[in-house]
Amino acid sequence: MFDALKERLDGVFGKLKGKGKLTEGDVQEALREVRRALLEADVNYKVVKGLVENIRRRAMERSVLDSITPGQQVVAVVYEELMDLMGSEPKPLTISPKPPTLMMMVGLQGGGKTTSTVKLAKRLSKGHKPLVVACDLRRPAAVDQLRVLAESAGVGFYGPEKGESDVLNVIDGALRYARDRLMDVILFDTAGRLTVDDEMMAELDAMKARIAPHEILLVVDAMTGQEAVSVSEAFHSRMDLTGVVLSKVDGDARGGAALAVLATTGVPIKFAGVGEGIDALEVFDAKRMAERIMG
Ligand code: GDP
Repeated sequence: MFDALKERLDGVFGKLKGKGKLTEGDVQEALREVRRALLEADVNYKVVKGLVENIRRRAMERSVLDSITPGQQVVAVVYEELMDLMGSEPKPLTISPKPPTLMMMVGLQGGGKTTSTVKLAKRLSKGHKPLVVACDLRRPAAVDQLRVLAESAGVGFYGPEKGESDVLNVIDGALRYARDRLMDVILFDTAGRLTVDDEMMAELDAMKARIAPHEILLVVDAMTGQEAVSVSEAFHSRMDLTGVVLSKVDGDARGGAALAVLATTGVPIKFAGVGEGIDALEVFDAKRMAERIMG
């Protein structure tokens, strides 16, 4: 991720550092190139606009042009802005001191929710006894998919009884099932739809009220770029997300979704999906990423 962005910024910064005195025109030109590089990395234009304005303001405040090393000062300002945006340490998952820890996995259909649920459960099975719960009553295929993945990963599975029509019963059943087996982390794989629709959101609201989850994690496909941003905003405004799992990062060389989701929602990206395999999940370290972009 971010390789092209890094290369472009390296070019811009190389030119700046190479110059002695900078004119205002040099700085304008550099900022234009930073802007272009971010847009090419598929970062949402509103985010780019905000970022570039902040860089310009900081540069003015510090009168970088009058400094002895103006090029380096401009680079430092860009670095600081990126760090402000991405620089927080990885946010660990909340594990309730009083088990079970309850997690809702939400997101659009096809975004990688079911896969990520099992990936996360597998990761948590070092030290915990997780249970994944299929909550999509409209798509039996989704229930089967979770069951098969859970079996292959060796984590516990709970699904709806045949003919069950109320998802709240599934929740209650899962809580009992986990209690009887001393399972201490429960991940609810909620029903996804193709778009953010009211029916889905209403169901998620009802589930949230019943579960009182410690984590609500949105799984969003990094390859959808701009759409990842609007989907994150829609879910966050309704559900108060505690984190994002950015899936399919392996296919998103540009990395724009990560930057833009962070900038627009402020919700920490906790994990990144880096492949189809059940172990292909990494802790997302935005700070390290920003450091890498800036070399
Ligand atoms: P859901 O409808 O949101 O539950 O999505 P799925 O979990 O069924 O995932 C949809 C497709 O994306 C499947 O083919 C997954 O194998 C694939 N997928 C999920 N996460 C990743 C990832 O991190 N990288 C890649 N390359 N593929 C992924």
